[in-house]
Amino acid sequence: MIPVLALVGRPNVGKSTLFNCLTRSRDALVADYAGLTRDRKYGEGDFEDRKFMVIDTGGISGEEEGIDSVMAGQSLQAIEEADAVLFIVDCRAGLTPADAMIARHLRVRNKPTFVVANKVDGTNPDIALAPFHEMGLGELFATTATHRKGVKALMDHVMGKF
Ligand code: GDP
Ligand code: MG
Repeated sequence: MIPVLALVGRPNVGKSTLFNCLTRSRDALVADYAGLTRDRKYGEGDFEDRKFMVIDTGGISGEEEGIDSVMAGQSLQAIEEADAVLFIVDCRAGLTPADAMIARHLRVRNKPTFVVANKVDGTNPDIALAPFHEMGLGELFATTATHRKGVKALMDHVMGKF
Protein backbone atom coordinates (compact mmCIF):
# COMPACT_ATOMS: atom_id res chain seq x y z
CA MET A 1 0.00 0.00 0.00
CA ILE A 2 1.28 3.47 -0.90
CA PRO A 3 -0.08 5.89 1.70
CA VAL A 4 -1.54 9.16 0.46
CA LEU A 5 -0.85 12.16 2.69
CA ALA A 6 -2.73 15.46 2.39
CA LEU A 7 -1.07 18.73 3.43
CA VAL A 8 -3.82 20.94 4.81
CA GLY A 9 -3.73 24.32 6.53
CA ARG A 10 -4.00 28.08 6.11
CA PRO A 11 -2.11 29.86 3.33
CA ASN A 12 1.52 30.73 4.12
CA VAL A 13 2.11 28.20 6.92
CA GLY A 14 4.68 26.27 4.86
CA LYS A 15 2.68 23.54 3.10
CA SER A 16 4.47 23.91 -0.22
CA THR A 17 7.86 24.13 1.47
CA LEU A 18 7.10 20.85 3.22
CA PHE A 19 5.78 19.38 -0.05
CA ASN A 20 9.08 20.20 -1.77
CA CYS A 21 10.97 18.75 1.18
CA LEU A 22 9.01 15.50 1.02
CA THR A 23 9.17 15.14 -2.74
CA ARG A 24 12.71 16.56 -2.93
CA SER A 25 12.12 18.39 -6.19
CA ARG A 26 9.42 19.82 -8.38
CA ASP A 27 10.18 17.04 -10.86
CA ALA A 28 8.49 14.67 -8.45
CA LEU A 29 5.10 16.02 -9.51
CA VAL A 30 2.92 13.25 -10.82
CA ALA A 31 1.08 14.91 -13.63
CA ASP A 32 -1.17 12.03 -14.59
CA TYR A 33 -2.26 10.91 -11.15
CA ALA A 34 -5.99 10.20 -11.17
CA GLY A 35 -8.06 13.15 -10.09
CA LEU A 36 -5.41 15.74 -10.78
CA THR A 37 -6.78 19.25 -10.75
CA ARG A 38 -5.25 22.68 -11.02
CA ASP A 39 -5.82 23.22 -7.32
CA ARG A 40 -4.17 20.14 -5.90
CA LYS A 41 -0.59 19.15 -6.56
CA TYR A 42 0.38 15.51 -6.30
CA GLY A 43 3.89 14.35 -5.67
CA GLU A 44 5.67 11.14 -4.91
CA GLY A 45 8.18 10.76 -2.14
CA ASP A 46 10.00 7.99 -0.37
CA PHE A 47 11.02 7.46 3.19
CA GLU A 48 13.44 4.69 4.09
CA ASP A 49 12.68 2.82 0.86
CA ARG A 50 8.92 3.14 1.17
CA LYS A 51 6.94 5.23 -1.26
CA PHE A 52 4.18 7.65 -0.39
CA MET A 53 2.05 10.17 -2.24
CA VAL A 54 1.63 13.69 -0.97
CA ILE A 55 -1.03 16.22 -1.95
CA ASP A 56 -0.33 19.94 -1.65
CA THR A 57 -3.32 22.25 -1.40
CA GLY A 58 -3.78 25.98 -1.81
CA GLY A 59 -4.91 26.40 1.74
CA ILE A 60 -7.97 27.29 3.74
CA SER A 61 -8.04 30.98 4.66
CA GLY A 62 -11.22 31.01 6.72
CA GLU A 63 -12.69 33.63 4.34
CA GLU A 64 -14.65 31.05 2.40
CA GLU A 65 -17.86 31.85 4.30
CA GLY A 66 -18.18 28.82 6.43
CA ILE A 67 -17.36 25.19 6.44
CA ASP A 68 -19.82 24.39 3.63
CA SER A 69 -17.80 26.19 0.99
CA VAL A 70 -14.61 24.73 2.44
CA MET A 71 -16.16 21.31 2.21
CA ALA A 72 -16.84 21.90 -1.47
CA GLY A 73 -13.25 22.95 -2.00
CA GLN A 74 -10.02 21.32 -2.96
CA SER A 75 -8.76 20.96 0.60
CA LEU A 76 -11.72 18.81 1.50
CA GLN A 77 -11.18 16.77 -1.66
CA ALA A 78 -7.57 16.22 -0.63
CA ILE A 79 -8.67 15.13 2.85
CA GLU A 80 -11.11 12.65 1.32
CA GLU A 81 -8.45 11.21 -0.99
CA ALA A 82 -5.87 10.86 1.77
CA ASP A 83 -5.04 8.06 4.16
CA ALA A 84 -3.69 10.61 6.64
CA VAL A 85 -3.74 14.37 7.01
CA LEU A 86 -0.75 16.54 7.86
CA PHE A 87 -2.39 19.63 9.35
CA ILE A 88 0.19 22.41 9.12
CA VAL A 89 0.07 25.33 11.54
CA ASP A 90 2.44 28.26 12.04
CA CYS A 91 4.22 28.54 15.40
CA ARG A 92 4.93 32.20 14.80
CA ALA A 93 1.32 33.11 14.11
CA GLY A 94 -0.12 30.98 16.91
CA LEU A 95 -3.55 29.36 16.82
CA THR A 96 -5.87 31.39 14.56
CA PRO A 97 -9.66 31.16 14.06
CA ALA A 98 -9.06 29.54 10.66
CA ASP A 99 -6.87 26.89 12.32
CA ALA A 100 -9.64 26.22 14.83
CA MET A 101 -12.18 25.85 12.02
CA ILE A 102 -9.96 23.37 10.18
CA ALA A 103 -9.38 21.48 13.44
CA ARG A 104 -13.12 21.17 14.01
CA HIS A 105 -13.57 19.73 10.56
CA LEU A 106 -10.73 17.23 10.97
CA ARG A 107 -12.10 16.12 14.33
CA VAL A 108 -15.48 15.36 12.75
CA ARG A 109 -13.93 13.69 9.73
CA ASN A 110 -11.86 11.46 12.00
CA LYS A 111 -8.93 10.72 9.63
CA PRO A 112 -5.51 9.95 11.09
CA THR A 113 -4.16 13.45 11.64
CA PHE A 114 -0.68 14.70 12.47
CA VAL A 115 -0.36 18.32 13.55
CA VAL A 116 2.77 19.87 12.08
CA ALA A 117 3.77 22.98 14.02
CA ASN A 118 6.01 24.59 11.42
CA LYS A 119 8.24 27.68 11.67
CA VAL A 120 9.35 26.66 15.14
CA ASP A 121 12.71 28.30 14.40
CA GLY A 122 13.23 31.43 16.44
CA THR A 123 10.43 30.58 18.88
CA ASN A 124 10.46 29.13 22.36
CA PRO A 125 8.91 25.73 21.56
CA ASP A 126 7.40 25.24 25.02
CA ILE A 127 5.39 28.42 24.62
CA ALA A 128 4.77 28.23 20.87
CA LEU A 129 3.45 24.66 20.86
CA ALA A 130 1.07 24.90 23.82
CA PRO A 131 -2.00 26.30 21.99
CA PHE A 132 -1.74 23.58 19.34
CA HIS A 133 -1.70 20.83 21.95
CA GLU A 134 -4.99 22.26 23.20
CA MET A 135 -6.66 21.51 19.85
CA GLY A 136 -6.68 17.88 20.92
CA LEU A 137 -5.99 16.63 17.41
CA GLY A 138 -3.48 13.88 17.83
CA GLU A 139 0.25 13.94 17.70
CA LEU A 140 2.12 17.23 17.35
CA PHE A 141 5.44 17.61 15.54
CA ALA A 142 7.55 20.75 15.51
CA THR A 143 9.31 21.47 12.21
CA THR A 144 11.36 24.04 10.37
CA ALA A 145 10.48 23.01 6.83
CA THR A 146 12.90 25.51 5.29
CA HIS A 147 15.75 23.59 6.94
CA ARG A 148 14.15 20.11 6.89
CA LYS A 149 14.30 20.10 10.67
CA GLY A 150 11.86 17.75 12.39
CA VAL A 151 10.76 16.24 9.09
CA LYS A 152 12.41 12.87 9.66
CA ALA A 153 10.79 12.47 13.10
CA LEU A 154 7.44 13.42 11.59
CA MET A 155 7.74 10.93 8.73
CA ASP A 156 8.94 8.19 11.10
CA HIS A 157 5.64 8.47 12.92
CA VAL A 158 3.47 8.95 9.84
CA MET A 159 4.92 5.99 7.92
CA GLY A 160 4.86 3.92 11.09
CA LYS A 161 1.04 4.01 10.87
CA PHE A 162 0.98 2.25 7.50
P1 GDP B 1 2.01 27.64 1.97
O1 GDP B 1 1.21 28.83 1.51
O2 GDP B 1 1.38 27.03 3.17
O3 GDP B 1 2.27 26.66 0.88
O4 GDP B 1 3.42 28.21 2.49
P2 GDP B 1 4.82 28.24 1.74
O5 GDP B 1 5.46 26.90 1.75
O6 GDP B 1 4.66 28.91 0.43
O7 GDP B 1 5.68 29.14 2.74
C1 GDP B 1 5.28 30.47 3.05
C2 GDP B 1 6.51 31.24 3.54
O8 GDP B 1 6.95 30.73 4.78
C3 GDP B 1 7.69 31.15 2.59
O9 GDP B 1 8.33 32.41 2.57
C4 GDP B 1 8.58 30.10 3.23
O10 GDP B 1 9.95 30.27 2.93
C5 GDP B 1 8.32 30.37 4.71
N1 GDP B 1 8.56 29.18 5.55
C6 GDP B 1 8.15 27.90 5.33
N2 GDP B 1 8.58 27.09 6.30
C7 GDP B 1 9.25 27.86 7.18
C8 GDP B 1 9.93 27.57 8.43
O11 GDP B 1 9.98 26.44 8.92
N3 GDP B 1 10.49 28.63 9.06
C9 GDP B 1 10.44 29.90 8.54
N4 GDP B 1 11.04 30.87 9.23
N5 GDP B 1 9.83 30.18 7.37
C10 GDP B 1 9.25 29.19 6.72
MG1 MG C 1 1.50 26.63 -1.07
